[in-house]
Amino acid sequence: MADKIKSKIGIEIHGYLITKEKLFCRCATNYKEAVPNTNICPICTGQPGSKPMLPNSEALKKITAIALMLKCRINLKKIVWQRKHYDWPDLPKGYQDTMSGAYSVPVGENGEYLGIKIREVHLEEDPAQWNPDTGNIDYNRSGLPLVEIVTEPDFSDSKQVSKWLNKLVLAMSYINALNSDAGIKADINISINIAGKQGERVEIKNLNSISAIEKAINYEILRQAELLEKNVRVRMETRAFDETKNVTILMREKEIAEDYRFIPDPDLPVIQIKQEEIDKTEKTLPELPHLKIERFIKRYKIDEDSAAVLSSNLELANFFEKITSKINAETAARWVTIELLRILNWNKKELKQVDIKPEHFIELLEMVEKKKITELVAKQILNEFIPKSFPPAEKMKKASIIEGKKEITGICEKVLKENKQAVDDYKSGKQEALKFLIGRVIEKTQRRANPKIVYEVLKEMLKG
Ligand SMILES: [Zn+2]
Repeated sequence: MADKIKSKIGIEIHGYLITKEKLFCRCATNYKEAVPNTNICPICTGQPGSKPMLPNSEALKKITAIALMLKCRINLKKIVWQRKHYDWPDLPKGYQDTMSGAYSVPVGENGEYLGIKIREVHLEEDPAQWNPDTGNIDYNRSGLPLVEIVTEPDFSDSKQVSKWLNKLVLAMSYINALNSDAGIKADINISINIAGKQGERVEIKNLNSISAIEKAINYEILRQAELLEKNVRVRMETRAFDETKNVTILMREKEIAEDYRFIPDPDLPVIQIKQEEIDKTEKTLPELPHLKIERFIKRYKIDEDSAAVLSSNLELANFFEKITSKINAETAARWVTIELLRILNWNKKELKQVDIKPEHFIELLEMVEKKKITELVAKQILNEFIPKSFPPAEKMKKASIIEGKKEITGICEKVLKENKQAVDDYKSGKQEALKFLIGRVIEKTQRRANPKIVYEVLKEMLKG
C-alpha cells in the first residue's frame, strides 16, 4: 500500500528569535531561567493605556537575515503590524501583533532552502504561557519575538521533514538567530493521493518537537490512506496530536478561516526595509552548513562524516580551519572531531564556552608530528585544556621525567633523613621498608622520578 501513496506536506515553523529584549518592550527574554512573572512590564502584560515601544531593531535585523539565508525576496513594500484578535487566557491585550494575516506583507517570500520552497518568513509576538491544569499564567514569555517560516507543501514523507528541520535549525544557529533550547513549534498540513484518489488538506496544530512532527505525519498518512482505500472522503479539518497515545485527534471539522478580525495596529509604525540594509546584512551572512560540508570535502580532502561533524557547529568549523593553517587537514580533522569533541562532551561544554587557543592546539599536534611526545601524552595534555589552554611545550618541560642520578640522589638524601624509622627497619632486614622509601621519593617528585633509578640509588645509599 505504502508505495502507492503520494503525500504533500507543508510546515509552518515557529521559533524563538535570540534577542536581549522583547519585541515591544525592554523586558528581558531569558524566560526559562527567570522566576515566573518577573520579566514583565505594563506593555507585555497588556495593562490598559500602555502602548508598545518601537519594534526591537535586533529582531528586525535577525528576521531579515533569516529570510536572506532562506533565499527569500525581501519586501521593500510597507510592512504593517496587524492585530490578530482572539480570546484566550494567554493573550492579555486580546490580540497578538503579527506581520501575518489577511492581506499581509511578510518580510521575505518566495525563498528556497535545500530544495523546499519557502512561502514566507515573518515576525510576530509570542503570547504568555498558560497552564490549563493550574490556570496559572507566566507573562515572561508574553511579547517574545517569534519567527514564522512557512513552506510550500513540497515534502513527501516524515523523514524528509525531520532531516530538513534539523538542517534548518543548524543553519539558524550559524547566525545565532534561533533559540534552539526553546525548541520549535510547528503546524503541519498533509494531503495524500492514492491511485488517483485525492484527499483534502488536513492540518495538525501545535506540534512541539521534531520527533512529534515525525510521528504525527506517519500516523496521519496512514489514517488518511485507510479512509481513501475504503473510498471514504478525507475532509478538510484541523487535528491535534496526542503524544502519549501517538494519534491525531479531530479539533474542528472543515477549515473555515477563523475570523481573527485583522486590523492594522495604529500604535505601531509601518516597517520599511531599505535596500542598503539588505545589502549590509547579506555581507554578514555565513556560508550555509551544506555548502561548508561540500567545501571541506573538496578543499581539505576529508571524508563526508568528518566534514558534517565539523560543520555541525560554526565555532568548531572555524577552529578546524585555523588548525589547518599549520597542521595537515586529515590530522586536524581527526583531532578536532574525535579528541577535542571527546573532552568537550566529557566536560559538558561547547567550544565557545571554553578558552582553547588554536595556537596551543597547533603546538600540541606539532609536538606529536615531530615525535616529541606520544599521542597518549598529547591526549592527557588536551584533557587539561579545559577550561583554558596553555602552551604545551612549557608544561612538558615542567613535567619531564627525572632521570639524573645526581638530582635523584639529592632527593633520596632528604627522604632518608625524614624517614629514620624506615631506614632502621630496612637495615634490620625489613625489605618492605625499601618499597616505602621509593614511594616517598616518587611522591616528592610528583611522580616524575624514574622508579628504576630511584631503586638503584636508594639501595646503594642504604648499603653504607
Ligand atoms: Zn515588558
